Amino acid sequence: MKPKIVVVGSSNTDMIVRLSHLPTPGETVINGSFAMAAGGKGANQAVAAARAGGDVTLLTKVGNDLFGSQALEGFRNEGINMEFVGIDSSSPSGVALIFVDERGENSIGVASGANGEFHPSDLSQALDCISSADILLVQLEIPLPTVEAAIRCAADAGVRVILNPAPARKLDAETLRLVSVITPNQAEAGILSEVPLRDDKSLETAANRLLSMGLAAVVITLGARGAFLAEPGSFEFVQAFEVKALDTTAAGDVFNGALAVSLGEGCNLREAVRFANAAAGLSVQKLGAQPSAPRRTEILDLLKARTREA
Ligand code: ADP
Repeated sequence: MKPKIVVVGSSNTDMIVRLSHLPTPGETVINGSFAMAAGGKGANQAVAAARAGGDVTLLTKVGNDLFGSQALEGFRNEGINMEFVGIDSSSPSGVALIFVDERGENSIGVASGANGEFHPSDLSQALDCISSADILLVQLEIPLPTVEAAIRCAADAGVRVILNPAPARKLDAETLRLVSVITPNQAEAGILSEVPLRDDKSLETAANRLLSMGLAAVVITLGARGAFLAEPGSFEFVQAFEVKALDTTAAGDVFNGALAVSLGEGCNLREAVRFANAAAGLSVQKLGAQPSAPRRTEILDLLKARTREA
């Protein structure tokens, strides 16, 4: 049986313009190229989890417009349960305008639209769904009270919660105590722990600080290095897969979606992080956010191949 993963989070349409350099205020840079793709951390992680083998329900909010209907069609094609997706007739769907320069540097402006109108009351029909999940997966691109309400509902029912604290925001201790695994990247871990991350020793200090806030486990993702895994009294690096990276957009989202599936299947945290590293390692070899999320068979093939080599 597939593990039941409920994702509560954002959905956006990404509009990407590649340019020779990022425009400065008042400047117009021409001769760019344009691409549009489905995005938003909630939606990205839901798609990644569905492809990695999860039975996924996405709780998000879109506007009553073209971008909203395109997003819904994308979720439908992935087999994601959309029973509880809200349609807000007074706000546009979320949009991210992204400039990328020749070196891959970017500058992003997000109009949250309907994501900003995703309130705790929007969860009322979905409480049973959250309570019967194997894993609740949340990020911080929607109003904090909604994230907190979802976490409380899951924790009350004994459902494990993965919190991807992105974009980084201060969270109250009450909420953090209900989270099973927090998955910041290095920058987010620095902000949340208030420990400047300079070396491996400071990773341990930051993780200890997060654990002391009442979190059960901390997984700090480290890009090409993999992830640093911390539980009370134990620390471990889990290496990334050596790959040729082409585009690291949404690597963290793919990591989180896959982590949720593996934990939901009953794997321990170390095994789940290895599965997530494999999924994210595959994703960075392809362009785009959602298009780059790998299928379960690809992830398992990579794990098998690397186990044979080891
Ligand atoms: P974010 O995308 O949130 O900033 P990271 O950059 O830490 O997060 O990447 C998340 C995960 O993606 C890493 O833990 C790793 O598994 C994988 N990853 C990212 N970059 C690479 C890379 N260059 N090679 C292999 N795996 C990578």
